[in-house]
Amino acid sequence: MSRPFALDPMFTSLKTLGGVGPKLLGLYEKLCGPAVIDILFHMPSNLIDRRYSPLVKDLERERIATIKLTVNEHVPGSSRHRPWRVRCSDETGGIDLVFFHPRKDWLLSQLPVGQERVVSGRIEFYHGRPQMAHPDRMGPVEEYDEIAAVEAVYPLTAGLTHKRMLNTIEAALQRLPHLPEWIDGTLNKQRGWPDWHASVTAAHSPADFDDIEGITPARQRLAYDELLANQLSLRLVRHHQTRSLGRALPPDPALKDKMLEALPFTLTSAQQKSIDDIDKDMASNDRMLRLVQGDVGSGKTVVGLFAMLNAVANGAQAAFMAPTEILARQHTESMGKLCDAVGFEYAVLTGRDKGKSRTEILERIKNGDAKIIIGTHALFQDDVIFKDLGLAIIDEQHRFGVHQRLAFSEKGARTDILVMTATPIPRSLTLAAYGDMEVSRLDEKPAGRKPIDTRVVSLDRLEDVIDGLKRKISEGERIYWVCPLVEDSEKLDLAAAEERHRVLGMHIGSRVGLVHGRMKAVEKDAVMEQFKNGDLDVLVATTVIEVGVDVPEATVMVIEHAERFGLSQLHQLRGRVGRGEKPSSCLLLFSPKSGETARLRLSTIRDTEDGFVIAEEDLRIRGAGEVLGTKQSGLPEFKLANLSVHRDLMQIAQDDAKLIINNDPQLKTARGEALRTLLYLFRKENAMKYLRSG
Ligand code: ADP
Ligand code: MG
Repeated sequence: MSRPFALDPMFTSLKTLGGVGPKLLGLYEKLCGPAVIDILFHMPSNLIDRRYSPLVKDLERERIATIKLTVNEHVPGSSRHRPWRVRCSDETGGIDLVFFHPRKDWLLSQLPVGQERVVSGRIEFYHGRPQMAHPDRMGPVEEYDEIAAVEAVYPLTAGLTHKRMLNTIEAALQRLPHLPEWIDGTLNKQRGWPDWHASVTAAHSPADFDDIEGITPARQRLAYDELLANQLSLRLVRHHQTRSLGRALPPDPALKDKMLEALPFTLTSAQQKSIDDIDKDMASNDRMLRLVQGDVGSGKTVVGLFAMLNAVANGAQAAFMAPTEILARQHTESMGKLCDAVGFEYAVLTGRDKGKSRTEILERIKNGDAKIIIGTHALFQDDVIFKDLGLAIIDEQHRFGVHQRLAFSEKGARTDILVMTATPIPRSLTLAAYGDMEVSRLDEKPAGRKPIDTRVVSLDRLEDVIDGLKRKISEGERIYWVCPLVEDSEKLDLAAAEERHRVLGMHIGSRVGLVHGRMKAVEKDAVMEQFKNGDLDVLVATTVIEVGVDVPEATVMVIEHAERFGLSQLHQLRGRVGRGEKPSSCLLLFSPKSGETARLRLSTIRDTEDGFVIAEEDLRIRGAGEVLGTKQSGLPEFKLANLSVHRDLMQIAQDDAKLIINNDPQLKTARGEALRTLLYLFRKENAMKYLRSG
C-alpha cells in the first residue's frame, strides 16, 4: 500500500520550492524537517501587526508602521561606516529609509526615485526626523493591502531570517492540496471547523493572538487532526497486536482465596477493581496490554501478584521485572512469602547472578520449574528462555521505555503484558503516551496511611531545620534529604548534594550517606541497603531515590530547592515517607530568592496528597512536555496540538479512534480511505503496516 498521490507535493523536499538552496534546506531540516509538510506544520509563535498606517507627521516612535511614500533622493553614506539614506516623503512630511552596507543596484531598483512605494518597519527618530532602518517590507503601492496586515512570526534558527521563512511558507502553501474529509461530519458541524485546506491556510495567516494560542476553529481542527492520527495509530497497533493473539488465562477462585488469606491486609477497593480488570483481560483470548497507574505506596505490587496468580493457575509462567537490583530483591522477599503460601516455585534473576548459580536459574526458567520469575533488565537477555511465559509485568514503566516493553513481549508470542507506573499522569496525557493500553487507576491509598505533615520553609531557616532533624534522629527516625543537582558545575547557586552531605555530616555525625545519579548501580544499591538496614540515619540523595526502596522506617523527607522541581516529582518524592507506623513529615525548602508564584506552586503540594490532582495542576502550569519530562516517557511530540490547550480534544480523538477501529478495522469505507490519508499526513506508516491494501 502506498501513499495517496494527492499527498506527493506535501512529501517532496523543500528544495523543490523556489528560493530554497542547499544551505537553506539544511536550516529548515534542523528547524522542522526536510519536506513541504514539515514547514506547513511549523506554526507561527507570534505576530506583527502592520496595520498602523498614519501620515508621516503623526508617526509615533518605536511603533511598527506601514506607510505610502514617494522616493525623492538616494544619499550614499559619506564613509564606509555611515549608512545609505533614501529620502522619502508623503504630503505631510519627510522620512529617511536607512540602510547599512546595502547592495546599491538592488536598492536603486527597489526604491526608484520619483516613484511611490509602500514600506513597513519600526519607526525611530534621528535628530528629530523620523526614519526607518532596513524596512521589513517594501513594495509597489498595489501591495499595500497585503503588507498593511497582521503578519505571522515563526520560530527561527540561527542563519534563517523572518522574511525567508515567510517566503518559503507562502511557496509551500501554493502546493497545498484539497483532501477528502476524515473528520466525522457531526463533530465538524458541531464545532464549526473549516476543512483541512482552509485550516492550514488560516493557521498561517493569524489575525490575532487566538490564532497563536491555537484556540481558533482552524487551529483546533489541525490539533484534532494530529491527535486523531496519534490515537488512531495507537489503536491500530493495539487492535492488531492483541486481537485473538492472547490466550485465556482465567482466574482460579480457590487459589485467589488462598492468597487473600495469606495477605496481612485487605485489598483496597481500587486494588480490587484493578484486579477485576486484569482478570477479565486475562480470561479473554485477546492479549492483555494494561497499565496500572498509582501513586507510590498505593499498592501496585500486590495487584501484579494477583495477575501472576492467573498465569500460574493455568500452568503458565509469569515474570515480574523491576527497575533496579535492590527492588527486585525486595519484591522477591515480599512476594516470596506469598508464593510459599500458595505453593508456587519462584526464582530471581538479576545482573548479579553469574556463573553456576545463573546457569541453574536459567535452567529452572527453561524447564518450567520456576513459575514466578522476578528480576531486572537481566530478564531481557537472549539466553533467558521461558518454558511458557503467560504474563510479563513491567514495574515503573518510565524507567524502561516503550520499545523495551515490546521487546519483552517477544519472549513469549502470546504473552499478556501488564505495566505498572507511579507517575500520576493526567488523563489527557495518559491517552497520548499510553493510548495503546487500557488503564487501571489506583486512586485510593491503603487504609491506615497517616497524612504526611507537609511544610513549606525558607532555606534561611536551615539551622533550625537541622536542629529539628537532630531531635528526630535521637528518637530513632530516618531521614531522606533530596538535592536538585549533583555538582556545582551548572554554575547555579545550587546546594550540591556533595556539599550538603559534607555539611550535614559535620552537624549530625557519621551516619549520613550519599547516593547520586553518577554512582554505579551496585554502589547505589549498597548505600540504599545501609539506609534500609538502619546503618544510616540520613540519606542525602539526588532524585535517584524516586524509584527507591520501601523503607517504612523513614519518616522525614526534606527537599532542598523544592521550587526547582516539578509538582509531580515533589509528590513522588514525598511518597517515599508515610509508609510506616509513625507519623511522617515533609519539608519543602525553598530559596528565599524564589518568587511568589514558585511558593504558590509549593502550596499545592502542601494542600493535597492526591497525585492525580497534582498532576493536573502541573500540566496546567508547565505544559505537557514538562510534566512527562524525558523522552523515555513515550509521549509523542505534537506540532499542532498543545495538550494544555487541547486536552478536551484528546478525549474526543480517543473515543473516535475506538469507534473507527471497531466499525472499520481495515479502514476500507470512504471515511476509512480519508483516514488513511490522515495517517500518512502525520507519518504513521508504522501503524499502516497492519492494514491490507485498500
Ligand atoms: P507501590 O508499588 O504502588 O508503590 P507497594 O506495592 O510497594 O506500593 O505497596 C506499598 C506498601 O503498602 C507495601 O508495604 C504493601 O505491603 C502495603 N500495602 C499494599 N496494599 C495494601 C493494603 N490494601 N492495605 C495495607 N497495606 C497495603
Ligand atoms: Mg512499586
